[in-house]
Amino acid sequence: MQCDLCGAKTENLFRAIVEGTELNICKDCAKYGKIIEKKPVKVIEEKKEYVRKPAEPEKEIIQVIVPDFAQRIRNKRESFKLKQKEFAKKISEKESLIHNLETGSFKPSISLARKLEKFLKIKLIEEYEEEHEQSSETKPEGFTIGDLIKVKK
Ligand SMILES: [Zn+2]
Repeated sequence: MQCDLCGAKTENLFRAIVEGTELNICKDCAKYGKIIEKKPVKVIEEKKEYVRKPAEPEKEIIQVIVPDFAQRIRNKRESFKLKQKEFAKKISEKESLIHNLETGSFKPSISLARKLEKFLKIKLIEEYEEEHEQSSETKPEGFTIGDLIKVKK
């Protein structure tokens, strides 16, 4: 970095106002102006920010089938006044599959859940971002605050 006043090359520049203009000046020139920031201006700080950015999208989107999917499917299907057989036909699936879904004995895959969501206009998939710092909202079952603190370490 260079001093805006004398052109001296130095790592330690100070942000200062010299005759009404904000400049980065060296220690020697500081006496000519009024220093705004006593901390030396560092280029390294900008670099850090640049490095941090690509690391951010590392969040993982986790998709989970809601635990009460069976009930949600059944309730909505019944509200459409559709029999399991009719409903199965509409979404080109087997009646037995609908039966198993509604009894909870079969957990739908994400793609099947998407199909059901679309047709029934219900929510069967919950999405959340997997991060190291988990919010209490997305904490898995049985996870206590104490566990979270331990994990953080
Ligand atoms: Zn200078």
